[in-house]
Amino acid sequence: MKKRHIALLVVLAMLMGLLAACGAGEAPAEETAEQPEAQAAETETPDAPEATEEVAADVQAVIDRGVLRVGVKNAVVGFGYEDPLTGEYSGLEIELAKALAEKLGVDVEFTAVTAATRTELLDSGDIDCVLATFTITDERRESWDFTTPYYTDHVTVLVEDASGITDLESLVGATVGVSSGSTSAKSLVKALIEAGLISGDGFDEETFDPATWTDGVSFRQYDDYPTISTALSAGEVDAFCVDKSILAIYRTEGRSYIDAEFAPQEYGIATTKDSGMSAVAEELVSDLLADGTISALIADNGLD
Ligand code: GLU
Repeated sequence: MKKRHIALLVVLAMLMGLLAACGAGEAPAEETAEQPEAQAAETETPDAPEATEEVAADVQAVIDRGVLRVGVKNAVVGFGYEDPLTGEYSGLEIELAKALAEKLGVDVEFTAVTAATRTELLDSGDIDCVLATFTITDERRESWDFTTPYYTDHVTVLVEDASGITDLESLVGATVGVSSGSTSAKSLVKALIEAGLISGDGFDEETFDPATWTDGVSFRQYDDYPTISTALSAGEVDAFCVDKSILAIYRTEGRSYIDAEFAPQEYGIATTKDSGMSAVAEELVSDLLADGTISALIADNGLD
């Protein structure tokens, strides 16, 4: 019996040994199975921020294309101006466009836009952003993203000296040329109301339409500024109303600004709503405002 007991104990011990061996064998197997995962997780950790900084598809498309297509003005001296002889663009907005392209590591391509075409071209994807004296308004923010403003201008009115119009009061009764798709007409009507020259009855910020407005002034809308300038010379309109920066080139001899500046116009880079480009543009403008580059560019372009 004792021998049998011993034999049983030996068998039991062997079995336990076997079980222990299996357990021991499994444990490292599990560990080794887990280890690489754990290591992989660890080695992935430093890459994690890159994953969150992932380049948005629209930005990647620009990088892959190697060209940032920017809508700019071509006749606004100091902002976006194309030299008719050389075809070279210059101005604050041109420099900002180049800086944006440089940030993305791509070339820049300029497309001349007007107040009427800039959003169509952005919406159709023909351009990636707009840097074209584009005033930030709450209404526009509903359709496009705008960066923090990089410049603030004001609206004024250009007239032929012979017209005798010198201020808002003598402007009452005039036909005013404005660009379609601009803030100009609404700004002028608001200025007339604020100056107490018209009652403002029937003025509604949301539904205002220059085409039908007749209180104090009436409007003719044009697709571009050279046409308004020609209309002013021809007497088709009595006045030309838009941002002072835009009017500068049309203020030739025998023409003057009236004695009134109104409606601050804050210019921002416009991009497709909620796009990756919106974030890149905002980062650029914030950085260049913070480090003084924009102030320097404003001075360099004679805009201060
Ligand atoms: N800055 C004004 C606007 O955005 C005038 C139009 C223009 O920029 O051409 O409406």
